[in-house]
Amino acid sequence: MTALRDNVLLRVKDLEVTYSLDNKATAHAVSDMSFDVAEGETLGLVGESGCGKSTVAKTIVRLLKPDSGSIIFQGKDLATLEGEELRQVRPDLQMIFQDPISSLNPRRRVRNCIAEGLRIWQDLSPDDLTTRTDELMTAVGIDPSLGDRRPHEFSGGQCQRIGIARALAVEPKLLICDEPVSALDVSIQAQILNLLQDLKQRLGLTMLFISHDLAVVKSISDRILVMYLGKECEIGSTDAIYHRPAHPYTRALLAAVPEPADSVDVAEGRLSGELPSATDPPSGCRFHTRCSHATDVCREVEPTMTSVNIEHRDIEHRDRKHSDHYVACHHPVLS
Ligand code: ADP
Repeated sequence: MTALRDNVLLRVKDLEVTYSLDNKATAHAVSDMSFDVAEGETLGLVGESGCGKSTVAKTIVRLLKPDSGSIIFQGKDLATLEGEELRQVRPDLQMIFQDPISSLNPRRRVRNCIAEGLRIWQDLSPDDLTTRTDELMTAVGIDPSLGDRRPHEFSGGQCQRIGIARALAVEPKLLICDEPVSALDVSIQAQILNLLQDLKQRLGLTMLFISHDLAVVKSISDRILVMYLGKECEIGSTDAIYHRPAHPYTRALLAAVPEPADSVDVAEGRLSGELPSATDPPSGCRFHTRCSHATDVCREVEPTMTSVNIEHRDIEHRDRKHSDHYVACHHPVLS
């Protein structure tokens, strides 16, 4: 359990999401996740493909209903909202997706894709609708004179800009970006990240930014939450996660990026093996089957999130309020 913070916009607590599979097995996609996002903050959510990141995102925007837990957003529990109450909250929670082209309706002109939310949620005259759509296109770097074209006439990077404009049209309180640059060329990735960073500063956006790539997450996040096989394993400021990673899994992810941080030894961190199946997660610490630090306790006892007190170079249980760095590990690496 991590410390309570001020100005919290979203508080996820004890979130549990499972999928029932055809063979009657259950995939434990998200287990007991708790975290919060403060207003104006960007929280990066990182972990290997299949660890549950998209499931977290889809559950927050209620494309999925959680098995249990709460998702408190502006005083309401999204986990249990239904009907009109859920509909009313939808514009405040917008999402941008990995595949920018297929997330836009191919038959519609991009101007109409962007204006869709405005038409539903804001009572604008046709002229005001055009003006607002033009403003949004300009804000994301698309020339408004191209508004009558259809999505397939744009590049992947341009489509992602259009997806961002569409999401921002309804002035969301929280923007969830699910692998928004993974499908794009590296040079275009940087442009989209810069655009999001710029929009965040100009509009004071609050974001949950999901990626399997710690280098991408680092460039945009204020804090980073690392998850493994449906569980949180470490959370902290971007600086703490990058320079003082305590969880062997975080260290392994950092060792794998093209320009590893000085805080990790590339050889120490190399990840071996595959992510275990979410239908039968390992006992104790879910990472123990791939962890070079694992001992008996790791196989038997599930570690809980515990504050890392850097000043004392020790694990500190008492003074949780003043630390923003937590790790779920029996043998954290304290530097
Ligand atoms: P990530 O976004 O980190 O790649 P996901 O949230 O997509 O991870 O998946 C988490 C786990 O849930 C995986 O084991 C995946 O196979 C499973 N899963 C995801 N979507 C479904 C689904 N629609 N039906 C069954 N299992 C799913």
